Amino acid sequence: MPKKLHTTLVNDTHHSGMRFAKRTYLPRIVGLGTGSFCVGSVIIEHSTPIWLWALLFLNGFIWPHIAYWKAKRSATPFISEIHNLQADAIFGGIWIAVMGFNALPSATIFAMMGMNNISAGGQRLFFRCVIAQITVAISLLLIADIPFRPETTPLQLYLCLPMIMIYPILLGNVTYRTSRKLAEHKQAIMQISVRDGLTGLYNRRHWESLLNTELESFRRYRHKTTLVLIDIDHFKAINDNYGHSIGDQAIILLAQELQHTLRAADIIGRYGGDEFAAILPHSTELQARRAIERLQSRLDNSLFPQHPDLKIHISAGIAECDDVQETATHWLNAADHALYEAKKNGRNRVETAN
Ligand code: GH3
Ligand code: MG
Repeated sequence: MPKKLHTTLVNDTHHSGMRFAKRTYLPRIVGLGTGSFCVGSVIIEHSTPIWLWALLFLNGFIWPHIAYWKAKRSATPFISEIHNLQADAIFGGIWIAVMGFNALPSATIFAMMGMNNISAGGQRLFFRCVIAQITVAISLLLIADIPFRPETTPLQLYLCLPMIMIYPILLGNVTYRTSRKLAEHKQAIMQISVRDGLTGLYNRRHWESLLNTELESFRRYRHKTTLVLIDIDHFKAINDNYGHSIGDQAIILLAQELQHTLRAADIIGRYGGDEFAAILPHSTELQARRAIERLQSRLDNSLFPQHPDLKIHISAGIAECDDVQETATHWLNAADHALYEAKKNGRNRVETAN
């Protein structure tokens, strides 16, 4: 793989990994912070050594920042964040055991972490974390000989409420924002896949798919539909005499003039380098000819203030749809042939297919 491409891919993964770490940062602060109250409500009722309280404080209020810092410094933030989620699950297992499987706080921690893991990493991460959590919880319960105490007191119930009430709403909000972003990206990718980068008109592939749709529509409703192919005359000379960037500007200007001249319902595409194509639904070949003549007279005005002598001339081939055209390719060929005739007959003119 070329070095530059490799660097770009690594950067992309780094950025998306960092976005993932940023998304989980606030939910972890809130989740572990409120979770500490669930655990605290249980261990306060037993003689708990000070180091266990210190560990709870560390896990609830310091660890979220360490986890984020760790992901930020990592070359692979995504993997680092997955490890953080697994560490969360193991800590969860430790606290469930320490609480002697007290029903409500244990179920709350289990459900909230499960919800977080399934939304962050799907079923695989969820099951991996569940197995780790249950294994740690049962092993610790047995090894440390912690008594099984599933009963929940009212105080423990109240102290679980912040987590039960706040965390799902926060996570729902994060999920909603992520899906909104995804929808926006999808929309942007859709635009890129159907549009020409220089002019913003439809690209050839998409325009041709619309041509097929229009042909089917003609066969069904029998309304007049006309196809126009347009090519700039002596465009190579514009590039050679004025430079490629003025050539690009000429293409952009012609695209704009086409959009101004034709109707909103007309389907305009950039067919190739200096070639444009338009489908004019509900239009006869005569109406199409008038439209192209209007375009030509607009182009007669100088469009380049810095080069008043530069004019864009175009040739066009017109083909109205009829039953002779069995496929879109036949229809296109008819317009292309007319365009060829326009070029052959001296350019800066419009020809109609027989
Ligand atoms: P004709 O009158 O027969 O059409 O002559 P022409 O010089 O316009 O010939 P042709 O249509 O074959 O030339 C197209 C040229 O357009 C060739 C290519 O270098 C140039 N071209 C294609 N795409 C672009 C582009 O995006 N920007 C610029 N500036 N030039 C382009
Ligand atoms: Mg040309």
